Amino acid sequence: MTQASFIGNHVAGQRLQRPASGRHQPVTNPATGAVTGQVHLSDAAEVDQAVAAAAAAFPGWASTPPIRRARVMFAFLEKLRQHQDELARAITAEHGKVFTDAQGEVARGIDIVEFACGVPQLLKGDYTDQVSTGMDNWTMRQPLGVVAGITPFNFPVMVPMWMFPVAIATGNTFVLKPSPLDPTPSLMIADLLKQAGLPDGVFNVVQGDKAAVDALIAHPQVQAVSFVGSTPVANHIYETGAKLGKRVQALGGAKNHMVVMPDADLDQAVDALVGAAYGSAGERCMAISVAVLVGDVADRIMPRLVERTRQLKVLDGNRLEAEMGPIVTRAAHERICGYIEAGAAEGAKLLVDGRRFDAAGTGEGCADGFWMGGTLFDHVTPDMRIYREEIFGPVLSCVRVATLKDAVDLINAHEFGNGTSCFTRDGSVAREFARNIQVGMVGINVPIPVPMAWHGFGGWKKSMFGDMHAYGEEGVRFYTRQKSIMQRWPESIGKGAEFVMPTAR
Ligand code: NAD
Repeated sequence: MTQASFIGNHVAGQRLQRPASGRHQPVTNPATGAVTGQVHLSDAAEVDQAVAAAAAAFPGWASTPPIRRARVMFAFLEKLRQHQDELARAITAEHGKVFTDAQGEVARGIDIVEFACGVPQLLKGDYTDQVSTGMDNWTMRQPLGVVAGITPFNFPVMVPMWMFPVAIATGNTFVLKPSPLDPTPSLMIADLLKQAGLPDGVFNVVQGDKAAVDALIAHPQVQAVSFVGSTPVANHIYETGAKLGKRVQALGGAKNHMVVMPDADLDQAVDALVGAAYGSAGERCMAISVAVLVGDVADRIMPRLVERTRQLKVLDGNRLEAEMGPIVTRAAHERICGYIEAGAAEGAKLLVDGRRFDAAGTGEGCADGFWMGGTLFDHVTPDMRIYREEIFGPVLSCVRVATLKDAVDLINAHEFGNGTSCFTRDGSVAREFARNIQVGMVGINVPIPVPMAWHGFGGWKKSMFGDMHAYGEEGVRFYTRQKSIMQRWPESIGKGAEFVMPTAR
């Protein structure tokens, strides 16, 4: 193994060399199956080293004026813009998603950095003059200390950027534990932050798996944990962190439904379904994995969906005409194939079988990658595994229902509640849907309603544990705690001890 292929930690502003011993795992290019690097899997001592660096940097960074912290964010923003395509290429190389989609991922991360640039305004406290004679009361928000982010493979740039720009801008220091499947962008981000003038130790990266995660959440100096990943792990992180008295926001899995009403524009609905189900090979927490077809929509839309799914351009993500790239790993590919088999066995109608996809059309050297096409099932019912469980692949399940109420009841009965969407031309239907649906993020004629940087992101039910959303103003609140200060000066203090609750005078 060459040093160049080693993907290690970034601690106290330094890229750590490969240790003499320790665990590592291969990083693959999903388009070719080729091993492109070895990612280090940190142990508890290495996690401790990163947390110690972050703890050492905290006092200086926390007392740096917010406007100066914002200037570092502005400089980082410029660096991100300059290196946007480089980051996108690194995403495509390790994740497999198409390059233009990877560019979009970086752009949505940049949105959060722009939001974090406004941190002096976001940290403004409130103040009441004269709560009693000669006495004032105000609040300020202060950073927590060392905070950690644990992120999934599917957005190796954007999801860390849901967290650290807000955490850092508000005065915390940060330890990121990225997914070991696509770890390289985390180190590129660390380099750009350093170039932007961020003091060493404010942002650190520990590569690793469960061992590193468990060490991070148990670490007594880690004050808060932001997690994004699958629901079982989110639940584990939330319970463990809460037991240890830490703040936790843990965003989990999803099963997002898109309702198509009989009055919807079916061309738009087909485009929306195909893009939202198969974009990024369905490996998005806001991907649409269930189409809920109301009334006679199913018979009208199905032939178009079949045709469009068959025409999907599944190609190496670097080819500009590609609509969908490969699956992230061989194991994920096998898991998805298992679900397709289960769906057919349970009686769903398999209209397009992505397993039959021929990788020969993907270009030289791609036959060994983790390829599949889009899969389309009709007549899926709520008792089937393909309906109940998150597949996290390019599989769209269509469920037929009679009315809007049936659609809403169906969605509300599902254990996940991340995102949902309704396609209609009727304002009253849209309003009823948005008000009654038990889901955290709702789109009306918008298939993937990811909230903008200043609104905050988070699902309901088993899609999120904790009550403060990622980024936006809730992100600011998550990474800070309120302090209330009451003040008076000797001239206004009355004589004698007071033994009853003070009241305004
Ligand atoms: P994952 O849960 O396997 O991994 C997420 C992170 O947790 C990684 O850093 C991983 O190394 C670590 N991890 C894995 N197993 C662990 C364990 N047993 N103990 C401690 N840490 C562990 O998720 P993934 O496969 O990387 O990502 C896909 C999942 O993430 C999907 O379920 C998807 O819906 C979800 N996701 C959710 C959102 C959201 O906003 N709700 C966003 C993106 C992805």
